[in-house]
Amino acid sequence: MSDTSLQDRCDIVHALRSAIGGEVDDSTRRRAEYSSDASNYRVVPQVVVFPRDTDDVLAALWVSRETRTPITARGGGTSVAGNAIGTGIVLDFSRHLNRVIELDPDARTARVQPGTVLATLHSAAHPHGLRFGPDPSTWSRCTVGGMIGNNACGAHSLQFGRTADNVRSLDVVDGLGRRFTAANNPTVVGGLDSLISSNLATIRTELGRFGRQVSGYSLEHLLPEHGQHLARSLVGTEGSLVTVLEATVDLVAKPQHPLLVALGYPNMATAADAVPALLAHHPSAIEGLDARIVDAVSRARGARAVAALPPGAGWLLVEVTGDEPAEALQRAQRIAGDSEAIEASIITDAVVAKQLWRIREDGAGLAGRTASGAQAWPGFEDAAVPPERLGAYLRDFEMLLAEYAIEGMPYGHFGDGCVHVRLDIPLATDGAVLRAFVDDAAQLVASHGGSLSGEHGDGRARSELLPHMYSPAAIALFGQFKRLFDPHNLMNPGIVVDPATVDADLRRPAALPITKINGFAFSQDDGDFTTAAHRCVGVGTCRADNSASHGVMCPSFLATGDEKDSTRGRARVLQEMANGTLVTGGVNSPEVHDALDLCLACKACARDCPAGVDMATLKAEVLHRRYDGKLRPRSH
Ligand SMILES: Cc1cc2nc3c(=O)[nH]c(=O)nc-3n(C[C@H](O)[C@H](O)[C@H](O)COP(=O)(O)OP(=O)(O)OC[C@H]3O[C@@H](n4cnc5c(N)ncnc54)[C@H](O)[C@@H]3O)c2cc1C
Ligand code: SF4
Repeated sequence: MSDTSLQDRCDIVHALRSAIGGEVDDSTRRRAEYSSDASNYRVVPQVVVFPRDTDDVLAALWVSRETRTPITARGGGTSVAGNAIGTGIVLDFSRHLNRVIELDPDARTARVQPGTVLATLHSAAHPHGLRFGPDPSTWSRCTVGGMIGNNACGAHSLQFGRTADNVRSLDVVDGLGRRFTAANNPTVVGGLDSLISSNLATIRTELGRFGRQVSGYSLEHLLPEHGQHLARSLVGTEGSLVTVLEATVDLVAKPQHPLLVALGYPNMATAADAVPALLAHHPSAIEGLDARIVDAVSRARGARAVAALPPGAGWLLVEVTGDEPAEALQRAQRIAGDSEAIEASIITDAVVAKQLWRIREDGAGLAGRTASGAQAWPGFEDAAVPPERLGAYLRDFEMLLAEYAIEGMPYGHFGDGCVHVRLDIPLATDGAVLRAFVDDAAQLVASHGGSLSGEHGDGRARSELLPHMYSPAAIALFGQFKRLFDPHNLMNPGIVVDPATVDADLRRPAALPITKINGFAFSQDDGDFTTAAHRCVGVGTCRADNSASHGVMCPSFLATGDEKDSTRGRARVLQEMANGTLVTGGVNSPEVHDALDLCLACKACARDCPAGVDMATLKAEVLHRRYDGKLRPRSH
């Protein structure tokens, strides 16, 4: 950082400290911890703020406007699109603004602070037989604010819709500092009504074409025929228009007597072909699993973890419900009969059903290594096509993977046409292959009438590719929409509108190898400490209380609730050590010492982390290097 920018940072930090009661942290270690989310990207913020109340948030937004410093809201930081990171002020809502303020079981609504973890909302709603409808796999640590930012969906969106469909109103502040309650009141934002009425044809033909069209801004909610719902149109805007201070959301009745049917097919595409017919049975979820991800689970957790699956190389997990167990069973039997599967198993044992759901939830982490042991990355993580196109799209996608000699492990919310995949794209030196591949893949999705993002948002990973999916008129409209709320481009800039290139700011290529000396072999990681530290892709399981499922990771985070004490926070600091531009002192850096100090070396992460991060080993290696040939402190 130049002297001028250092001075700028000092001024911003000073202004924040004067205005805010909560913690304002511009230490190198803190900035390292918040330099990534669960994406491939690395953007170091100037400062991280932990607001204690709404006044702190308003004050931070004021400093952002006064000093023209970009501001990025952050919840659990589990976003895979690279939109929970930014160059200026990062506002972490998850630490203190994480309460359910009010829950009305009769009206079936809840008023929540944006940093409320979805699991917390579920716990509050549970005694009333209620829950929030959308349930991303990260439900144990993602926040309602982040779900609103991304328009998060999940397995049960088939039944309950996306986050946008479950939001009543939002208390927000825009880039001009205007605070308002957004509901179905578009006139509250000057110029919005006329922007919509003069672009009706573009909105009606290009937006809201199918359920998982999450890419771009969802202006279809502002159409008269859709109730001109301003709040819904702000969902999925990724913090690039407004900051959410509070949300009132709908709750739904918890489905009764869920029953899982596992269907085996010869391959993933054949399984996808079966989806449209199964949708006619109105299941509550249809999830897809490929043999390659099932093999990854077997390798990581043993063959018993996948024993319940019928023969096949592509599976659908179909969930049905019923008022009575017998009704659910009848529906499951009808689905099994109509499935055209090689074999169907109705999973009546709840423990086994939970085990199968866990494969899905941990999919992204488990898919972090291919069968040949190569690291797999997000990149084209959640594209979606209309479900009737899914089989054809998957066949074309496999051909594209073969063309690039890339291995991928598809899985996802097949009932909605949404495909997750991790790819062993070479990222150790540059992003050239990533760039070429995602460009081709975006064109492929568009040719099937699909959406580049089906639930995670566009962020840094896809915003540049939006012209493959949208006309110039729609792209221009997104820009005009943004400028009505944020003319100075302070709200999470570079997201959706005026993006950087998809290969800018990649984390992995910017890290240097730290090869083996006489310590651990790191044989699974090419003998390279850097590769071992980059196993952490940020999925954030270490930020959740996993005790209900007998998980034990990460005790230090559970004790303090501070990202610093999570496995992920520690891994980020080690990754920055390998990068060497922010954390500059290698193993002797004070930041590295601080990050590892509270790690208990309990090896819980080695057991529970789906990406296989083993912080105890990384810590032992760092200490070994640091004290090589020197006397170690007595406490060691
Ligand atoms: C393993 C894995 C599985 C996943 N599975 C799913 C899935 O099944 N379905 C799904 O939809 N997603 C999934 N995701 C993506 C992600 O977890 C979800 O989108 C989640 O809802 C993000 O929540 P978060 O609190 O982590 O948000 P963050 O990552 O912190 O932020 C997400 C976006 O919201 C914005 N934001 C946060 N708070 C606010 C606020 N107060 N005001 C305005 N904007 C705000 C941020 O700026 C950012 O743009 C998955 C991710 C991983 C790593
Ligand atoms: S080894 Fe350290 S980082 Fe891993 S779970 Fe235990 S305390 Fe957390």
